[in-house]
Amino acid sequence: ATGELDRTVALVTGASSGIGAATAKTLAAAGASVALAARRADRLETLATAIEDNGGTALAIPTDVTDGTAVEEMIERTTEAFGGLDALVNNAGVMLPAPVERADPDDWRRMVEVNLLGTMNVTRAVLPALRAGDGGHVVALSSDAIQSPSARFGAYAATKAGVVAFADSLRAEVADDGVRVTVVEPGVTDTELPDQVTDEGTKADVETLVASMRALDGEDVAAAVRYALTRPAHVSVDRLTVRPTDAG
Ligand code: NDP
Repeated sequence: ATGELDRTVALVTGASSGIGAATAKTLAAAGASVALAARRADRLETLATAIEDNGGTALAIPTDVTDGTAVEEMIERTTEAFGGLDALVNNAGVMLPAPVERADPDDWRRMVEVNLLGTMNVTRAVLPALRAGDGGHVVALSSDAIQSPSARFGAYAATKAGVVAFADSLRAEVADDGVRVTVVEPGVTDTELPDQVTDEGTKADVETLVASMRALDGEDVAAAVRYALTRPAHVSVDRLTVRPTDAG
C-alpha cells in the first residue's frame, strides 16, 4: 500500500453514522488502521466489513464514551489489535437544541456528558498511547454553531465552545511531546444528527434548514480531518472551519 496514513492507527468515536463513519472510511482509504467506536454495534460491524472489503483494516469496538471503564477498554483493545495508537478523532456527539425556557435539563446534561466530558475522558485515556508513539494527533469536532450563533442552540454551542477551550489548552500542554491538536468546526452537514432532537418544533426547523441548502456531506468534513492528519509533523492545523457555500 502507498497511502499517506499507512503507518497510522486511528480511533474514531461516533463512527456508526454521519461524519464519523465518513471519516473512518476516508482515513482507512488513506491507509490507516481504524478502530470504530459508538454504541450501535451492528452499524460498526457493517462499516468494518465495508472497509475490509475495500482493502482496509478496521476493528469495531462498541463503546459508550460516557462510560469511563468502557473507554479504558476501548483504548486497550485498539493498542492490542494494532500495536499502538496515533490519532484520536473525538467525533461522538449529540445536538439537542430547544428554547432555554422549555429545554429539558436532561438534554443539557446529555450534551455535556457526550460532547464535552466524552471528549475529555477519551482524550485523557488516549494520551499515554499517543506519547508512546511517534508523534500523535488529537482531533475534536466542534461546530460552526459557536461562530454563527442561532436561537435555541445555546447549550449545544456551550459544549462545543468548551471543546475548543479544552483543545486549545491541550495543544499547549502536549506540543513538546510532538502531539498535535486540531479542532474541526463544520457548518450544516447532512447526517443523522437531527434525529435525536427532542423538541418537536425545533426538530422540524432543523430538518427544514438542512433541506434549504446544499449542505455538507460527511465526506466533506472527513476530508478536513484527513488534511490535518496528513500535514508534516512540524505543521499544526489548529482550527478548520468548513461550511456550506449556501450558508452565506
Ligand atoms: P450523527 O448523529 O450522524 O453521528 C453522531 C455519532 O455520535 C453517532 O455515531 C453516534 O453513535 C455517536 N454517539 C452519540 N452518543 C454517543 C455515546 N454516548 N457514545 C459513543 N458514541 C456516541 O451526527 P454527525 O455525524 O453530524 O455528528 C458528528 C459530530 O459532528 C458531532 O460531534 C456533532 O456535534 C458534530 N457536528 C455536526 C454538524 C452537523 O451539521 N451535522 C455540524 C457541526 C458539528 P451511536 O448512536 O451508535 O452511539
